[in-house]
Amino acid sequence: MSLLLDISTREAEVRHIEEVGARFRLVSFTAERFRNAPWTPGDMVQVIASGSTLLGVWEVRSYTPLAFDPVTGTAEILWYVHGNGPGSDWCDSAEVGTLCRLVGPRRALSLPKQQRPLLFFGDETSFSTAVALRETPSRHRDVRFVFEVDSVEEARVVIERFGIGDSTRLIAREANDRHLDEVEHEVLDTRRSTGAANGVLTGKASSIQRLYRAFRAAGVPGRQITNVPYWTPGKRGLKGH
Ligand SMILES: Cc1cc2nc3c(=O)[nH]c(=O)nc-3n(C[C@H](O)[C@H](O)[C@H](O)COP(=O)(O)OP(=O)(O)OC[C@H]3O[C@@H](n4cnc5c(N)ncnc54)[C@H](O)[C@@H]3O)c2cc1C
Repeated sequence: MSLLLDISTREAEVRHIEEVGARFRLVSFTAERFRNAPWTPGDMVQVIASGSTLLGVWEVRSYTPLAFDPVTGTAEILWYVHGNGPGSDWCDSAEVGTLCRLVGPRRALSLPKQQRPLLFFGDETSFSTAVALRETPSRHRDVRFVFEVDSVEEARVVIERFGIGDSTRLIAREANDRHLDEVEHEVLDTRRSTGAANGVLTGKASSIQRLYRAFRAAGVPGRQITNVPYWTPGKRGLKGH
């Protein structure tokens, strides 16, 4: 093990894996160096999905713990196994006892700062962040969720598992992003009817851009909208800023 790797990353072990529907896995890690580590809901951890020597290429991928316990040094991440990259493959092949190296937690998005009522938009990669809102002082109170997803049936298993089914609207993706008209309508309508002061936009970069423009056109000040792109087609390993 190289010294750099040892200093800059934390060794962690997979302690528990739960299949949540077909393509989601809830993975629980413990790391000695997570004990007493500061964590704010919305922070990310980064997983070294491949590369374990100083000279090798590190494939670093970002994920958002839905819960973090500094007493036991445990982070839990809800992972979308989309099947197109090393982060997804790493999760797919992980087992209880698998060792890995992580970076963080580090800042990506501060969920406690988001005022309620809150409108949260995302996709499959955003479910872990959406669940992490329950670790904020207001928990899931006065939050409405809108997600664009490949499979409404698979996504429903996730939202029911984490108890956010009643406050969530799932919209199926369509060719050429035709569904984004419906997403935009739903997001603006929900914002109006709930009086949501703040919007959090996560997930696919192009969807976020479109909704950001729609919010601004509806008169929402830019400071009330938080954007964190989680992925974009053809690009590898986005870091959220
Ligand atoms: C701050 C932050 C927090 C995140 N939190 C989570 C989280 O908690 N849970 C989670 O599952 N993901 C999360 N993501 C998203 C995750 O990091 C990306 O999906 C990442 O690309 C996965 O790495 P990979 O190695 O599987 O794919 P990459 O090697 O990065 O990409 C390979 C190919 O796969 C495509 N791809 C990436 N994501 C998807 C997708 N969702 N659907 C279809 N194609 C895709 C890319 O566009 C690219 O073409 C987060 C991202 C950021 C920036």
